[in-house]
Amino acid sequence: MSVDRRSVWPYVDGEPGEFLYSRYAHPTGVEAEQKLGALEGGEALLFSSGSAATFALLLALLEPGKTVALAEGCYFGTGVMMREELGRWGLRCVEFDQTGPPPPDVDLVWLEAPSNPFLTMPDLEAAVAHPARVVVDSTAATPVYLRPLEHGADFALHSATKYLTGHSDALAGAIVCRDAADRERLWRFRQRTGPTCSADVAALVTRGIKTLRTRIERQTETATTVADRLRSHPRVEIVRYPGFGGLLSFDVDGDPLPIERATRLVKNATSLGGVDTTMESRHRWEGDRVPVGLLRLSVGLEDADAIWADLEQALAG
Ligand code: PLP
Repeated sequence: MSVDRRSVWPYVDGEPGEFLYSRYAHPTGVEAEQKLGALEGGEALLFSSGSAATFALLLALLEPGKTVALAEGCYFGTGVMMREELGRWGLRCVEFDQTGPPPPDVDLVWLEAPSNPFLTMPDLEAAVAHPARVVVDSTAATPVYLRPLEHGADFALHSATKYLTGHSDALAGAIVCRDAADRERLWRFRQRTGPTCSADVAALVTRGIKTLRTRIERQTETATTVADRLRSHPRVEIVRYPGFGGLLSFDVDGDPLPIERATRLVKNATSLGGVDTTMESRHRWEGDRVPVGLLRLSVGLEDADAIWADLEQALAG
């Protein structure tokens, strides 16, 4: 894995060449962008985090007074950013049930596939029939299970911190555009405002993409087994799992904190998409937006029976 860490490249015959200053672009980033673009079927750009990608997309494409239709129950940080940070700059946000059509009179439709932590899938056909442009945060689906641009979406967005890098050791984001002109606009915004992904992290995106399919297929197998077993456990009230990927959530009766603290193999930690299985209560972060008993489980690469044995002993309390 070669990483070109230079921040500056000499001009070529007295003129700026393809690479000149790393905030604009760097070869390690371009390599990762080409790999991701090929997977998604579009033009990819990396950012310093998934949140930076979200922020860039909203600021570059919208302006004060514009309204986003945001999928209810999607990653709570996206809504917090829209309402509590960008609201002060004139952005409006209305939430809607993404399993149906978006509301009329909005300027951008923001979907999440599947939503984190409610695991609903968007009605993409209804969304792309809307006149507004459509963004799909496809972090949890990954391009292995969904290529939003093929369904008519304008942008696929990733927290590459999760499955794309896959080892919980890198913070990165990505936007894949259907149109080269959108990529150009976002590239200019990134170059002017600075949320570029570092070369070291971009190299981890390229490395992660090499094992993405193998990891996520195995995580799907394990998550399917674990979801089935959770469904027949007497302490579990509901299991949310769309049938693919490594992310699921389930509700227990009563306080979930003793359960998350009792696991040994399953790490009690936030985030998702890594090779290690993690679990946490989301009520802690999201308040009454999620049920008190909701636990989010991100299934890693450990043996399915070992994960289940750990969950079972924790649930037995
Ligand atoms: N989108 C989804 C679905 C997420 O789960 C997250 C983070 O948890 C983000 C976006 C934000 O990404 P990052 O943490 O890389 O800024």
